[in-house]
Amino acid sequence: MTEKKETITLRETVAVHVRAWREIRGYCPGLYPCTALHSALQALTPYASIYLSAQLLNELAGPRRPQLLWRWALLLIFLTAGLNLLTQAAFRWQTALQDRYQVRRQRLYGDKLRSMDFADIDKAGTHDLLSQIRQNEGWADWGIHQLYLQFSQMTEGMFGIAGSVALTASLFYSKVPQTAGAFVVLNHPLCLGALFGFLALLTVLAPLFRNHASAYWSRYAEQARFGNRVFHAFSFIFGEQRRSADFRMYNQQVIARHYMADNTFSVGGQMHRAAKGPMGAWEAAAGALGSVLTGAVYLFVCLKAWAGAFGIGSVTQYVGAVSALSRNISLVIETVGTLRSNVPFLRTAFEFLDIPNAMYQGSLTTEKRADRKYTVEFRDVSFCYPGSERYALRHVNMKFRIGSRIAVVGENGSGKTTFIKLLCRLYDPSEGEILLNGIDIRKYDYDDYRKLFSVVFQDFQLLSQPLGSNVAGAAVYDRERAEKALVDAGFGERLASWPKGLDTMLYQEFGEDGVNVSGGEAQKIAIARALYRDAPFIILDEPTAALDPVAEAEIYSRFNEIVTDRTAVYISHRLSSCRFCDEILVFDHGSVIQQGSHSQLLAKEQGKYAQLWNVQAQYYTETE
Ligand code: ADP
Repeated sequence: MTEKKETITLRETVAVHVRAWREIRGYCPGLYPCTALHSALQALTPYASIYLSAQLLNELAGPRRPQLLWRWALLLIFLTAGLNLLTQAAFRWQTALQDRYQVRRQRLYGDKLRSMDFADIDKAGTHDLLSQIRQNEGWADWGIHQLYLQFSQMTEGMFGIAGSVALTASLFYSKVPQTAGAFVVLNHPLCLGALFGFLALLTVLAPLFRNHASAYWSRYAEQARFGNRVFHAFSFIFGEQRRSADFRMYNQQVIARHYMADNTFSVGGQMHRAAKGPMGAWEAAAGALGSVLTGAVYLFVCLKAWAGAFGIGSVTQYVGAVSALSRNISLVIETVGTLRSNVPFLRTAFEFLDIPNAMYQGSLTTEKRADRKYTVEFRDVSFCYPGSERYALRHVNMKFRIGSRIAVVGENGSGKTTFIKLLCRLYDPSEGEILLNGIDIRKYDYDDYRKLFSVVFQDFQLLSQPLGSNVAGAAVYDRERAEKALVDAGFGERLASWPKGLDTMLYQEFGEDGVNVSGGEAQKIAIARALYRDAPFIILDEPTAALDPVAEAEIYSRFNEIVTDRTAVYISHRLSSCRFCDEILVFDHGSVIQQGSHSQLLAKEQGKYAQLWNVQAQYYTETE
């Protein structure tokens, strides 16, 4: 991988950060004003103490008037105490808002994922982008969150500059007395100009050097991101329970260690070489300039005090204020540099957030029918996956009779799952149309339409949550219905054996008392989840794949009870399980090549169904 240098203009830097701010402001109102208040107090409080201590010292080293000494001492104590109190109060408030923001800002990408077209969610590229965004954030808060960090620094820097300018101004106009001999030269405008120019140069150069160093982060962004992904992928898997047997048997840690060692961040890696070489050199130069600046300020201020321009107390004020001025100017310049380095990371974030929604969102509400009389019809439907030229479905015509049981069979890759995805409107047909009660499904409100279907996908996922919450998809639910759904799905006996019943925690992500269920048990829970939803259509994709033959036979024998008056669509590889279905669709290369009942299809001896049946029957006979 080569290093990448892209032009980043100030204009783009400002534009993308303004957009970043707009994206997140709704997630935590009040955070930015509160942060600005805290930064202002944080920046200005030290100046109160610098100024008042200087007055106190001047009085002590000069006239020593008791009344004035008291005044400065009390002011110093109460004002700094008051300001510190306010700073802490603002900090508490800011911390509370920040905690809320940390939780809420995660929603930005989740909300986008939920609202984007399923076709985009299904793309590997989308997940890659999201993974890049997460890696960038995890590695050094690059991306949208960086704006918040820099905002807080920037406001502190700006207020710091204002405070230190106020305390420094008199350094330049307080004159050395004419009796001071050669020191009078310190009053000369040229001398002041030269000093001012020198300090300004150092102040600007130091952060520029630092920005040169930090630019390596964005220059190596691609490699660093990859390195970070490798690190994440391999560093935590050693502890994963599900992998422990493979690790033990195949000694997989060797390969994991290999990738961990050969990483961008490892010794000898690109970031390591940059840190040892140019990146480190720029940082060191910036540090050296800072020391030269402090030395120059001390020299000038002490010379002026020596010559009698001001008292000893003012020395502490000026040295403190000029150093703070330089530090704050550097901070602001560095912030601008960091924001600039952040631009490529924001580009990635916006590439994800800008994925367009191309699917038509209808507004019709689906009729709420207690009799579940919904008819769905595929009319000459063809479909190509985005980016593919091959038809996954070709001229499919099909009408679902209300309350019927339809089996969908066919070899792998014949289009069965695609057919279901179109039926649930996860994708829209490329040609033809799908109708619900005679109306194109695109005209219905998307969420409303999806609620008509309960689906158990092959790769369903349960959460590490109590059993009942998994079934109901909610924390508060109808316990009686959840129990009935589990019993209907064949999970009754197991449920009865668990002392905590519906409250039994599944899996152990939240503690040791979680229960690990087998693949077959998980499938029953997933079926119960589909039943709980009580939609007019129930779709089961290979519903018994993970069940043992006894459990499978049990599900079939009670299939009618489970499905009741719903229209059921049932994808299966095992043809023996389709016999009880009213209608069987045989898919082949994206087309429905046969349609009919089990006996009708079996009667056509040369047909695909009979062919598949005979192959499977032979297998069972041989096995027996
Ligand atoms: P089945 O469920 O019968 O095994 P699918 O409906 O999953 O078949 O697949 C039908 C065809 O579409 C196959 O050729 C498959 O490779 C292709 N396909 C499936 N999913 C995608 C996808 N997300 N992108 C591109 N092609 C896909």
